[in-house]
Amino acid sequence: MERLTEMKTVAVFPASQEVKVIDGQAPRLANPDEVLFRVLDVGICGTDKEICSFEYGTPPSGQDHLVIGHEALGQVVEVGLAVDRLRPGDLVVPTVRRPCPHLDCRACRSGHQDYCYTGDFTERGIKEEHGFMTELVADRQENLVLVPSDLGDLAVLTEPLTIAEKALAQVFWLMQHRPPWLEPATDPGDRARGLSALVLGVGPVGVLGAMTLVAAGFRTYVYSRELPPTDRTDLVQEVGATYVSSQATSASELAASIGNIDLIYEAVGHSEFAFEVLRVLGTNGIYVLTGVPSLQTLAQVDSAGLMRDMVLKNQVLLGTVNAGSDDFASAIRDLQEFKRRWPQLVPALIGGRYPPERAAELIFERPVGIKSVISFQQDHIRPEP
Ligand code: BGC
Repeated sequence: MERLTEMKTVAVFPASQEVKVIDGQAPRLANPDEVLFRVLDVGICGTDKEICSFEYGTPPSGQDHLVIGHEALGQVVEVGLAVDRLRPGDLVVPTVRRPCPHLDCRACRSGHQDYCYTGDFTERGIKEEHGFMTELVADRQENLVLVPSDLGDLAVLTEPLTIAEKALAQVFWLMQHRPPWLEPATDPGDRARGLSALVLGVGPVGVLGAMTLVAAGFRTYVYSRELPPTDRTDLVQEVGATYVSSQATSASELAASIGNIDLIYEAVGHSEFAFEVLRVLGTNGIYVLTGVPSLQTLAQVDSAGLMRDMVLKNQVLLGTVNAGSDDFASAIRDLQEFKRRWPQLVPALIGGRYPPERAAELIFERPVGIKSVISFQQDHIRPEP
């Protein structure tokens, strides 16, 4: 490959409040365990919108800009001498979070920086480290997850899917270890038999979460504001979940029709709605929060009622952020499963691939499908209709 010296890079400049394409400096391998990869696809998400609204995100120390993009797929072009798992040509997905430096952070020191105690972790494309919306990236082998070559069309969804994967791994652990009457399930395919799950939100995290829950065997409902039919509500129905609009059905009406709600998976980032629906969580139920709402929202909640229910019904409230490499590996396995189960649906998830020059505007637009993707592969960009 011809060596790039300058490359197209999408960056946010918080001080001047700009988002623009700049000429980035091409990286080189600096350590023997590093891998240089060409970026193919970068997904856009709600966190990018917050960063580009200058409400979230921090450039690397001493710099005036942050290269955005944390949902990426790349192809390896060069490997350092100590790299033993990856070769040029391999497809890879990078993880996002890098450990804090503190020796007493047990989470980071054991490679589980998604549980960092100190808050001094960095996140590529979000917090103090440049991201992936650029042509070439260097990173350490341990931060890269190998993708099967036939998953290149979908693998940009790996990172957003890790949210559901990390949550579900914990939910299954809790579901199998808390009820004293249960034998640990032997057949993993059987783990969710007879259990109901309610997903809040019909954005990318909600839809991917619903697909994961359906594939895991939950009777799955998706509850959100938008009135059906829309492309997203259709998608949810076609994968076998039931879509219900909060404009047509109240949370208690919904709960009455579902029966005991065993799991609620919040993927909406709207705190008032999230706490309103917490009221209908079932006995022994688990409520997973994944959204990061903006801080100015003050919600009124019936704190006494919620506290009574949580105690009297043995409920669990679980927050989850970021993901470890195991979650990336299970996301890749589930994407393969989605492709096998719903071959006709999966291409509809990625509504379009667009050039980097369109990133600044697309970040604020509702995507076609569930995800807009910035592509650095010229031949994958669909012409404008
Ligand atoms: C990313 C996570 C990150 C979180 C908070 C999400 O959009 O997927 O990797 O930890 O934002 O910064």
